[in-house]
Amino acid sequence: MVKSALIAGAGVAGPTTAYWLAKHGWDVTVIERAGDLRLGGQNIDITDAARDIVEQMGIETAIKDKHTGEKGLMFVDTDNVSKAEFPTQSKGSLTREIEILRGDLVKIIVDATPESVSYRFDTTIKALDHKEDGVGVTFDDDTTEEFDIVIAADGMNSRTRPMILGEGDYTDYLGVWSSYFTVPRIEADNDWWRWYTSPSGVIAFLRPDNKGTMRASVNFQTDDNDPPHMTLEDKKDRLRARLSGAGWECDRLAKALDDVEDIFLGPLHQIKADSWSHGRSVLVGDAAYCPTPYTGMGTTIAIIGSYILANELATHDDHAAVFAAYEEKFRAFAKQAQKLPPGVPDAAYANSMFKVKLVNSGAALAASTPVQSVLSLFGGGDEEKSNDFDLPQYETARSA
Ligand SMILES: Cc1cc2nc3c(=O)[nH]c(=O)nc-3n(C[C@H](O)[C@H](O)[C@H](O)COP(=O)(O)OP(=O)(O)OC[C@H]3O[C@@H](n4cnc5c(N)ncnc54)[C@H](O)[C@@H]3O)c2cc1C
Repeated sequence: MVKSALIAGAGVAGPTTAYWLAKHGWDVTVIERAGDLRLGGQNIDITDAARDIVEQMGIETAIKDKHTGEKGLMFVDTDNVSKAEFPTQSKGSLTREIEILRGDLVKIIVDATPESVSYRFDTTIKALDHKEDGVGVTFDDDTTEEFDIVIAADGMNSRTRPMILGEGDYTDYLGVWSSYFTVPRIEADNDWWRWYTSPSGVIAFLRPDNKGTMRASVNFQTDDNDPPHMTLEDKKDRLRARLSGAGWECDRLAKALDDVEDIFLGPLHQIKADSWSHGRSVLVGDAAYCPTPYTGMGTTIAIIGSYILANELATHDDHAAVFAAYEEKFRAFAKQAQKLPPGVPDAAYANSMFKVKLVNSGAALAASTPVQSVLSLFGGGDEEKSNDFDLPQYETARSA
């Protein structure tokens, strides 16, 4: 009998899980809270075994074709003078071989999902009824339906998570807010990821994209880890307050906010839960094990986790055994992916010119030839070395 799955969230994890389940003949529905796919965000990396998975999905070339052309990472001062440079191939560069805008990736995965997958927008789950033989779902419009399996792929701030795991604190606040938004490109811009550390406590980025615009990110430390719902205007006001007097291109970014229509802004939490499932419902991606952008691993572990979960579901009938296998095979790697480099994020932020100089000279030292050679010896930043996850192989995946 055909099995049915409801997936909440059309980001990276939701459509990847949908892809594999539908390939195995499941009847899959993906719901998304937003009115359309959310295609915002900056460059993200696809590393480790996630590269093998996108290859198996036949989307590797499409992904490579959308490379943003970013040349590497450059630390700059307030006058845009380079203080340290990490070209793409250097040790410590945060620009990897496979770099793609998050929105381009989401679109590619959604387009690759079989036509049988149905996407419903402006839809969320209001309540779940965990039964022995299925899950009763009440949607926000009060209609109800029943599915064999419900999968929460609704991101770091998942509202489906407490309906599955129960109310509890699954968040580990990093003390930092991040924001992403898109601004017009100007003639003086270049194809480097420019990283500016302000003595006012702000870290701001400008990164090239493949659409003739620039991707901005503004980051700052604050104790406020639970803000009330913010409208677009609230987000702009909070960002303008932080950008004021911060130096570099911050006045330009503040002005550009006037015309920005979508902003991702909020506190960064790592998600840590003792279990990822209850009954016939389960979590995947950021909803289960968000590592935050500070690790560069969010998309990678979302793709690997989705692949394992979906292929276990396609291989075994007993959902309890499936969820146990998903955790057994993947929990250790997801946990390791959450490890932050020493001093991150605190060491990167500055509250004085002295600290700014310290950050920039530390970056210059790391970028210097002798340090690069030592890092090479130890394999620092080496993609091959970090590719240490033994991806489970499924007969079902090969035949899908
Ligand atoms: C707009 C946006 C921009 C981002 N930009 C970056 C970036 O620049 N760099 C970076 O490293 N990471 C970024 N991320 C996070 C990154 O996408 C994830 O860490 C990673 O790809 C894992 O993906 P995910 O599918 O688990 O979660 P996400 O990509 O966050 O996707 C979750 C999806 O669920 C939807 N959703 C939320 N609540 C509900 C609900 N109740 N019901 C149904 N759907 C819901 C969201 O709208 C979203 O489409 C961004 C996320 C978003 C949503």
